[in-house]
Amino acid sequence: MTHDHSVGTYPRFMPAERPAIPVELRRRLLVEAGHRCAIPTCRQTPVEFEHIEEWAKVQEHSFDNMIVLCPTCHARKGDRPGQIDRKSLRQYKANLATVNGRYGDLEQRLIWLYANALRRYPDDIGTMFNLPLGSAIQVLFLIQDGLLKQADPAPNEAYLWVHFTEAGRDFVERWSSALPLDEVTFAED
Ligand SMILES: [Zn+2]
Repeated sequence: MTHDHSVGTYPRFMPAERPAIPVELRRRLLVEAGHRCAIPTCRQTPVEFEHIEEWAKVQEHSFDNMIVLCPTCHARKGDRPGQIDRKSLRQYKANLATVNGRYGDLEQRLIWLYANALRRYPDDIGTMFNLPLGSAIQVLFLIQDGLLKQADPAPNEAYLWVHFTEAGRDFVERWSSALPLDEVTFAED
């Protein structure tokens, strides 16, 4: 064993031990994002637990400062152009709570499909989705909120045909581009 004090054999400060993320906090974060990547147009699995403000700075695991991302989106996190910055992550998180708190699984899938359609065809409001007959109840809140409509006339009677309204397009655009959903007013139920 050498005793070369000039290179600092013993660090003056021990690095802080990073504790494991508590199970209950992990569960809350997964539920918040529906067990998928929190980036609206991604939604991949598996996911990792991320600190919005870096762990090195905050040194704690807190719900408000954490979000789940897939490894690809995690790699895009940063402040350079084209990267996903902290402000965007906070907004994605706020919008997740709104969307996941109100809309069911089929509604969220429609929102996701439409968000991806809008990335390719930004002005589209005509995209029709064919749902199994009898699934109207599963998209009830989107319809009640004026974001989705049944197609009239429908191309055929074999399916329930729906499309997003102009308000629906605005909603989905804001959700997927991390703009605040604050001004969206939901119908009373
Ligand atoms: Zn992702």
